[in-house]
Amino acid sequence: MNNIQRGALAALLIVIVLIAALAPAGIGFLFAQRSQRHEAAERLNTVADAALNRAEDVTRRLSGALGEIGKVAAAPCSPPYLKELRRIALTHEQVRDAGAYDRDGRWQCSSLLGAVSAGTLDGLTLPPPDWRSRDGVMAWYGLARLPGGKTSLVMGRDGFYVAADPSLYVDSLEALGDPASGVGVINTEVSRVIATTPATDAAAMLAVYRTARPAPEPEPDCPPYVVRRSVSMPLAVVVSAPQQTLRQRVRTLPWGWLLGGLAAGLLAAGWAAFFIVRRLSPRGQLSDAVRRHQFIVAYQPIVDLGTRRCVGAEALVRWKYHDRIVRPDHFIPLAEHRGLIQAITDQVLDTILFELGEFLKRYPEYYVSVNLSAPDLTTHRFLDVLGPAIAHQGLRPAQIRIEATERSFLDADAAKEVISAFREAGHAVYLDDFGTGYSSLSHLQTFRIDGLKIDKSFVDTIGQDAASSSVASHIIDMAATLDVQVIAEGIEREEQAAYLHARGARFGQGWLFSPPLSAAEFIRYAGKTRGA
Ligand code: C2E
Ligand code: CA
Ligand code: CA
Repeated sequence: MNNIQRGALAALLIVIVLIAALAPAGIGFLFAQRSQRHEAAERLNTVADAALNRAEDVTRRLSGALGEIGKVAAAPCSPPYLKELRRIALTHEQVRDAGAYDRDGRWQCSSLLGAVSAGTLDGLTLPPPDWRSRDGVMAWYGLARLPGGKTSLVMGRDGFYVAADPSLYVDSLEALGDPASGVGVINTEVSRVIATTPATDAAAMLAVYRTARPAPEPEPDCPPYVVRRSVSMPLAVVVSAPQQTLRQRVRTLPWGWLLGGLAAGLLAAGWAAFFIVRRLSPRGQLSDAVRRHQFIVAYQPIVDLGTRRCVGAEALVRWKYHDRIVRPDHFIPLAEHRGLIQAITDQVLDTILFELGEFLKRYPEYYVSVNLSAPDLTTHRFLDVLGPAIAHQGLRPAQIRIEATERSFLDADAAKEVISAFREAGHAVYLDDFGTGYSSLSHLQTFRIDGLKIDKSFVDTIGQDAASSSVASHIIDMAATLDVQVIAEGIEREEQAAYLHARGARFGQGWLFSPPLSAAEFIRYAGKTRGA
């Protein structure tokens, strides 16, 4: 993966993290706002219902009291009449005062102040009523000049009246709703405000009432106000939603949802980041490659230095990463370190059998050698995979050879045991990179093996300076003494091949003969050297 791709992926990662972190919080916020608005609308509707009930109830009680006065048999304003007025005012909680007036609206008597003759009501006249019903009931809203001096609501009929405190209409509502929401009660026939809760703008309420659609159904979302009309009386109530200050709004934000959403989002984002980073890491990519079987095998011919005929091949793994071929030196150490090497070894074997199985069966004199790492040499696992696999293909065990480096002898006892098991099963075992380790010689004595591969570094110096080029020669001599085969690696020049052959090395591989090849190329190469 190049830097531009990495940069693009990192940017993508950041975007994903942001979306993952913010989306649940945002959704939570929207949900919470919806439910909060729904709750507020519900509250507004409850208050409106209660307010209308209350207004109708107060109106009904006042007319009831008015009806009772109508039934009093005594002569208006006579002492027994006044006594009855007082009784009615006392027994009706809502009635502040009751009394009588004459045809011209002049006051005659009052339950509080007695008869006009007492002098107090002298000359007081009721103004024209604010409202008059078809059956003769009249109402005065906000009359200030009544007994007691307070603003009163007065209902009258046929020369008598009851007076009440207008706040009666709204006084039981504060406990119900948000204290900051306003309630107004309106006479719909004359569009007059009868009463409002304290600190409520009566004119604004009236304006709302006038512009509101006559919608008896509660509105779905939360409107700034609700208007409710009475079906039995010319009454309506307007309830306005509380005006929240910025601080109140912040306080009532759905913090639980927000923080919960944020936490969930961060968790999801962390999870996504973890996965993406893991996928982007060399380790993640390598395990991906193992899962997706992204390995291919190249076959480097091994030739008889005397006849130059091909005798077999070394299987060399490559990682096919997108359109690139990655060399084993770049990923085998990581695979060994991360416990992926055994899976790779198995895939290499599968590939060999798939690509060269038929060829090897047809030409049993050829072999393929497989490079093993330490984990493959500590247990019998690979041997247990190998045995049945080649039996199934009908190959001879000798056609699969094993190459092991000194590095893979970490657990010397286990390696010794596993190596002898491979040999018993018929697989020749070679000590790879011979001469480059600390104790190649002692290994040659400890492990009973079939051959060694002279490392390329000793082949390189042949013909350059006498001292180091003699190392290869010494190794060949020693191998002869121990009766093990020699394969010289990395032969690039004719003079190297000639030298090694002259000193007694029988086999070799290197670019002089052939670079690593595809299976088809290898089969062609082998045929060519056979003279076929
Ligand atoms: P190696 O076993 O010593 O393999 C020989 C390496 O030398 C190969 O490199 C081969 O391509 C290269 N080579 C062969 N002839 C010449 C030549 O004339 N000149 C030069 N300059 N190089 C030559 P490659 O394929 O990159 O393999 C590197 C190492 O990776 C191998 O060294 C081996 O230790 C390891 N390896 C390869 N395949 C596997 C595998 O399937 N499993 C394990 N565990 N290790 C593997
Ligand atoms: Ca090798
Ligand atoms: Ca080698």
